[in-house]
Amino acid sequence: MRLLYTIILCVILLAANQNKIPTRKIIDVHFHARKFSDFANPPPPNPITGKIPKWKNDKEVIEMMLATLKNNNVVKVITAGSLTTIQDFQMADPERFIPSLGYPDMENNPLPDTASFIRNFREKKFLVFGELGLQYVGKTLADAELEPYLAICERLGIPVALHTGMSFPNTTYTCCPKFRTSLGNPQLIEEVLVRHPKMKIQLMHMGFPYLQETKAILNVYPQVYADIAVIDWTRPAAEFYSYLKSFIEGGFGKRIMYGSDQMAWEDAIPLSIKNVENAPFLTEEQKQDIFYNNAARFYNIK
Ligand SMILES: [Zn+2]
Repeated sequence: MRLLYTIILCVILLAANQNKIPTRKIIDVHFHARKFSDFANPPPPNPITGKIPKWKNDKEVIEMMLATLKNNNVVKVITAGSLTTIQDFQMADPERFIPSLGYPDMENNPLPDTASFIRNFREKKFLVFGELGLQYVGKTLADAELEPYLAICERLGIPVALHTGMSFPNTTYTCCPKFRTSLGNPQLIEEVLVRHPKMKIQLMHMGFPYLQETKAILNVYPQVYADIAVIDWTRPAAEFYSYLKSFIEGGFGKRIMYGSDQMAWEDAIPLSIKNVENAPFLTEEQKQDIFYNNAARFYNIK
């Protein structure tokens, strides 16, 4: 009888352990606030898992994303979108979602004038400027349109998050005729870094696949951080690992931040976390830096 009790207890403990929320606290520095209407109905399947999102309205998009974040212990989320979408997400969980003004956004809003930009920041309607998807409209951060905003960001300490690297197949032939792969080269922002030495900047997607160019920028400009979003779940694991490993070996492990770039698919979050956890060359300390410490330092998260 005692043996039976022991077996039952073991089974219960095992089951409880499997449902346990993971203990590692995570910051996602690359997350998109989206509306139901931003996508086709039904939404497209996740290109890697094939899973089709089940949400049916704006409220369900937020609820399902929030549930996934909670289940994976993602405690802070830099949440990019238009002023209205980031507000909707922030209201759902003000402690978790940190609003970030995206440009261009899904609604094709123009940039606010500089006075409104400053006012919105002071009113905490956004705290970060990005994702700046300038490459999709044929621009870079060096474009004259951005210059007054970058000067403000430098002066007020607003972190800037820039899309770098590449995009999905056929981007130029579908959504974005002005998109060019060459505009994703992080070296194109070098003059901006020279003009604004105190500006905090995050190279989104870690410049993938511009390995040497991204390393050159990180090496010379210590204020520059990088996130591994999207490449941590859409690229073949061997390719992602070899890219990430090269930065770790280069000594940049204190400036690499976890991001999901989940877009429409909440299952991108656990998938990208798993891929980083399973990276065979990362030490526990390096994982902790990537998942939390580096972003906490960059974004002043206490
Ligand atoms: Zn991006």
